[in-house]
Amino acid sequence: MSTPTPTATLARSTNRPARDSWGAQWLTRLFFNEAAVQSNEPIAPGLHLVTLQGPALRGLLWSPGDKLQLKLGRGMLTRTYTPLMWDGEAGRTAFVAHTLAAGPGSDWVRRAAPGEPLAVFGPRPSLALTELDPADSLLMGDETVLSLAAAWRPARVLLEAGEPACVNAAAQALALPVQAVAREPGDAHWPELAARMRASLGPTTRIVLAGRAATVQHLLRQLKAYGIATNRIRTKAYWADGKTGMD
Ligand SMILES: Cc1cc2nc3c(=O)[nH]c(=O)nc-3n(C[C@H](O)[C@H](O)[C@H](O)COP(=O)(O)OP(=O)(O)OC[C@H]3O[C@@H](n4cnc5c(N)ncnc54)[C@H](O)[C@@H]3O)c2cc1C
Repeated sequence: MSTPTPTATLARSTNRPARDSWGAQWLTRLFFNEAAVQSNEPIAPGLHLVTLQGPALRGLLWSPGDKLQLKLGRGMLTRTYTPLMWDGEAGRTAFVAHTLAAGPGSDWVRRAAPGEPLAVFGPRPSLALTELDPADSLLMGDETVLSLAAAWRPARVLLEAGEPACVNAAAQALALPVQAVAREPGDAHWPELAARMRASLGPTTRIVLAGRAATVQHLLRQLKAYGIATNRIRTKAYWADGKTGMD
């Protein structure tokens, strides 16, 4: 993959909506790249595989765990996703995105049509995974980490899910071995999730916790209680109850 050029990272956006303020237009031109939807394929109820393309996506550096922010409305309204691939020669990337929330991200994923233009910021570092061996790693999360799992391909993936059948269908479409535990009211599924996590740990296993903030915090406490050294753990909350647009 080639080194990013100033032209690529600072690609000019030419068709920003006129309703943006001058400041928002300036920031968009400075930091965002123009792309367009190439395809938007539902791979399971509530889960889509979205592919973006555009010359401005060429020559950018990407690693599994990096994030991409999509500009989805006026001003700096963005939502964040995890590319599962980046073809720097073709100028193409793809990610799995959910439609499970009442927010602009889920709305956009539901309706994004091929050819639709949008501005994107990134890829940029989010979860630093380069020092972890995926063959000896466990990824814990939920629907929002399917894309990360597809990018990084850890040995084990254990997810909490509103509808395990949907997550399993998406995992099958992505050729990912995934275990899914059904979410229960009041987080009554946490003991089962923690028990399965513990059963998946070898003496050197690295653990990545992502997805819902409350579950990440709970599982982190469990790992500490099991005596797992913190240098074996990485965490990143992808969303939190009652909060919008986490980055
Ligand atoms: C670094 C990073 C990488 C991410 N990568 C991905 C990815 O690859 N794929 C992906 O699908 N998501 C990913 N996410 C999560 C995604 O950005 C959030 O779920 C986002 O909030 C969705 O935007 P929205 O506009 O639909 O909902 P928002 O407007 O942000 O939220 C509206 C309401 O829905 C709730 N909510 C948000 N997400 C969920 C959810 N998953 N389930 C239930 N309720 C929810 C919020 O708490 C809030 O109450 C990532 C987030 C971060 C920070």
